[in-house]
Amino acid sequence: MKAPVRAALALFLTINLACATIITPRTSAQTKEAAPALDGFTAGESDAQRQLEERFRAVPLPASAREHLRTLTREPHVAGTPEDYRTAVYVRDQLRRFGINAELREYQVLLPYPKHPTRLELVAPRRVSLNLEEAVLPQDPSSSHRRIIPLFNGYSATGDVTAPLVYVNYGLPDDYAALKKINVDVKGKLVIARYGRSFRGVKAKVAEENGAVGLVIYSDPADDGYTQGDVYPNGPWRPETSAQRGSVMYLFQYPGDPLTPGTPAVAGTPRLKQDDPTLNIPRIPVQPISYGDARLLLEPLRGPVRPAGFQGGLPFAYHVGGTEDVRVRLKTEMDFQIRTIWNVIGRIEGAEERDRWVVLGNHRDAWTFGAVDPNSGTTAMLELARGFGELLKTNWRPRRTIIFGSWDGEEHGLIGSTEWVEENAAELREKAVAYLNMDSAVSGANFGASSVPTLWKLIRAAARDVRDPKTGKSVYQAWQDRSRAARPEAELTDAGAGTDTAIAEARINALGSGSDYTPFLQHLGVTSLDMGFGGDYGVYHSAYDSFNWMEKFGDPGFVYHVAAAQIWGTLALRLANARALPFDYADYAAELRDFVNETQKTAARRKLADDFDNNALLTAASELAGQANRTKVALTDVLAEIEDTRPRADERHARATARLKRINDSLIAAERALTDARGLRNRPWYKHQIYAPGLYTGYAAQPLPDLRQAIDDRNTANAREAAVRITEAIRRAVAVLRDGRGN
Ligand SMILES: [Zn+2]
Repeated sequence: MKAPVRAALALFLTINLACATIITPRTSAQTKEAAPALDGFTAGESDAQRQLEERFRAVPLPASAREHLRTLTREPHVAGTPEDYRTAVYVRDQLRRFGINAELREYQVLLPYPKHPTRLELVAPRRVSLNLEEAVLPQDPSSSHRRIIPLFNGYSATGDVTAPLVYVNYGLPDDYAALKKINVDVKGKLVIARYGRSFRGVKAKVAEENGAVGLVIYSDPADDGYTQGDVYPNGPWRPETSAQRGSVMYLFQYPGDPLTPGTPAVAGTPRLKQDDPTLNIPRIPVQPISYGDARLLLEPLRGPVRPAGFQGGLPFAYHVGGTEDVRVRLKTEMDFQIRTIWNVIGRIEGAEERDRWVVLGNHRDAWTFGAVDPNSGTTAMLELARGFGELLKTNWRPRRTIIFGSWDGEEHGLIGSTEWVEENAAELREKAVAYLNMDSAVSGANFGASSVPTLWKLIRAAARDVRDPKTGKSVYQAWQDRSRAARPEAELTDAGAGTDTAIAEARINALGSGSDYTPFLQHLGVTSLDMGFGGDYGVYHSAYDSFNWMEKFGDPGFVYHVAAAQIWGTLALRLANARALPFDYADYAAELRDFVNETQKTAARRKLADDFDNNALLTAASELAGQANRTKVALTDVLAEIEDTRPRADERHARATARLKRINDSLIAAERALTDARGLRNRPWYKHQIYAPGLYTGYAAQPLPDLRQAIDDRNTANAREAAVRITEAIRRAVAVLRDGRGN
């Protein structure tokens, strides 16, 4: 699913909570010769690891990647369809061909498709029926495929409503507030919102809360279309008849099968009723349309001229409507059924720590062909697996177990990953070291990542060891150059701790939601990351997210698919083989301090500054920093001791090894400690106290979610309680690290 790159870029520019840690960047030229020991490896083992990684990185190839993507995108493969099943079998069989054990795992989940194409018509001032079809393009052969699913929003209700139309801009709470100010009420009306700035499920929720009877969502050319550049097939951007499908599940309440929150959707599991009011789905009809169709609805609107910020990219002044002049009928008919979906689970058994798992995941289901979203990621996973397969042929085994998850039903609502996580929760809590997600791996050349701060250094280090195909520099260097160019001037000067290094570190974002890391991190507390190469991607969730688009615009030479496989595999090999886990909780502590300070500023602006215990939070963050540094020192000592005693394999060696295991386990458990079994306020499925999708942002992260929400709600009691719970969570993490270190 994963928001397209524009949104990611905006986030990049607007959120700067990351504290720039000072690391001297190594140039790629330096890596070969005087390479320092890799984090977590003894000096003696580090060179062997580097050689192993280089052998791995030599395997993925453009021609082979092209072939996987060609096969995966031959037909549309929406979750639960026979075509989707065929992709599952393909992935399973490829993994087996590479010498990796792989099985299908199925679930029975509530999955809607449109029963009939939606009807949307202008009833007044004149009757016009909208087309709601993406044009067949002679330049893109697959655009005429019979099995392309009609435009719809997953989990839209079935409904038939006729009402005056109101234009609500992005459909954010503030947009409705702006409308109220000019006396425009949406109660009993149909609303039309543009995509962007919030997850579409949030738009549905907010429309419902404001009393709208139906919602139309369109792609405005100002955000997604010709304003960005040439449209497909002449360029990569969204053409006039194209619209964005997508789920409107209330992911921010809980993801996964709506009928089985917290439990796996397998035979015998008790299920909620489909009309249960607590389900994570809208009660109103919701429909996506193109800007070509939206124009027919927006142009005749009367009523007040738009408030500030409401004007979009269509060539007329936007009015907000709401009068009887313009009436619209929306009729949706959805087919809600319990259907089967198929994950593929692959496994390479660890040689020494079988019960410690490094999990790699990507979803496989797509709204149409899914060339970018998600099968560029599936392709990267298969090339990575082919690389590991070559290593296996030389009798290599990873220290820890590596698990591959090819998830199904992600587009409908992170269903395959969520059900698998819920099914294996107890085991994952004990054994999962990290979860590495790659959804849309390639839509261009620009590397980006989001993760918990623990993994920042590791991601940067791996990016230094992979070559960027376009520039010939390291992926890290290209990323850092862009990161720097994108940073506002003011920030460059005031962030400067005096060196270029401090301001130039490539930025890694916080994890919100919108892809399969959510159940791992936010339900269980598994250290997680998400990454990919972005670009000018204007065909998101449309019929044109096709092989042809990828070959013309996204990655013509399939070289970034190779780079994606290389960086993903490098990270996995490092996490699977490092004796000491390369997790940095000092970065986490710094990030927490920034989150707290940022939150306090927001509270102060709202005159709520004294309502929660800011100092307790900052103190807990400082304790975490101190403990993290002591753990680092302990790890250095114990690694040296192991190196020292290895030839003798004596008592001292055994003691050091046992000590290392305790520290490693504490590094894994510290992230778990940041979860609270009670969950977040009114959304118990979300356990993590630091990261969750915002209730009103959806995809974007809202760090310290309960505290931020309480401040937004101006609720003092809730703010106090949230601050206490977050402080407790950080203290638990501190205690876990201290116990692991043993002194
Ligand atoms: Zn996706």
